[in-house]
Amino acid sequence: MSMKAAVFKEKNGKLEVVQMPIPEPQPGWVRIKVEACGVCHSDFFVKYGGMGNKFPRVPGHEVIGKVDKLGQGVNNEEYGIGKMVGVGWFGGNHCGKCEDCKENEWVHCKESYVCGIHYDGGYAEYMTAPADSLVPIPDCMDPVESAPLLCAGVTVFNSFRNQKVKAPALVGVQGIGGLGHLAIQFCKKMGFEVIALSSGNSKEQLTKELGAHYYVDTSKDGYIDKVKSIGSVKCILVTAPFASAVPGLLECLGTNGKLVILAAFNEPFNASSIAMIGGSKSIIGWASGDSRDSSDTFNFARNNQVRPMVKSFTLEEANEALDGINNARFRNVIKM
Ligand SMILES: [Zn+2]
Ligand SMILES: [Zn+2]
Repeated sequence: MSMKAAVFKEKNGKLEVVQMPIPEPQPGWVRIKVEACGVCHSDFFVKYGGMGNKFPRVPGHEVIGKVDKLGQGVNNEEYGIGKMVGVGWFGGNHCGKCEDCKENEWVHCKESYVCGIHYDGGYAEYMTAPADSLVPIPDCMDPVESAPLLCAGVTVFNSFRNQKVKAPALVGVQGIGGLGHLAIQFCKKMGFEVIALSSGNSKEQLTKELGAHYYVDTSKDGYIDKVKSIGSVKCILVTAPFASAVPGLLECLGTNGKLVILAAFNEPFNASSIAMIGGSKSIIGWASGDSRDSSDTFNFARNNQVRPMVKSFTLEEANEALDGINNARFRNVIKM
């Protein structure tokens, strides 16, 4: 039995749609019949072998589909055949014994896999994944529309909820793309007052529709004073990969404010230690979340109508979906 998959056959190559054998689940894993897979910037890591992945490799870590076959030892009640499940960046296989696992930090366990990097991901009709990577998907949620919650969604929701900022504080979302358009919705629906920060004014109207209370154009002189005049900003989620934005955003923060870095910059950033000490400010990185955090993300999104904006592509259009990621408004998703 064979299936269609979009695969990077070699480093720096294009995706090729090929026929491959349908994979068999190993003990402790399940097979998923994929219905949708979101396209993420991190899929380029696979293309360039940036995290040491092997080739050929099928990318994709925002996967939703139905459990199709259980590997040996997988609990049938929890992950029964036909159940809708998701797999995100956290690809399972946490050891349960190391210091990180004891602290419940599955994402940081050295044994943990990344879906689509350590094993073939969701740009395919079928894939297999360890049972601890699976996220139960609520029945009412559409696979194509909700797939981006498995990476973009959990990254903003889980990073923000762990900052211990209290509603209804004033918070900022910098960058209005795949992560930012979800961050505005999550922060607003968690009860916060939200400033959207972006360069130019082309996205102003959209940020208001997503629920932002204020919009500040960061390309304008005096934008820092404008942010400060709104109030004391307690947290800014940095979702656009511009290292040069960091010093200004640090200035925008109020006392005890936190700058949470969610975008991978290509170069180091500058930060004023005086600004940090003077305002008791901090700069924090955050690594997405595990399958339990993704489950919370889905439940919150369902209960509060947080909805990713998506454009759907066929598997044959996988290159178009990936290469067009920077123009996407806002998340490209491959529909099987
Ligand atoms: Zn991702
Ligand atoms: Zn571990």
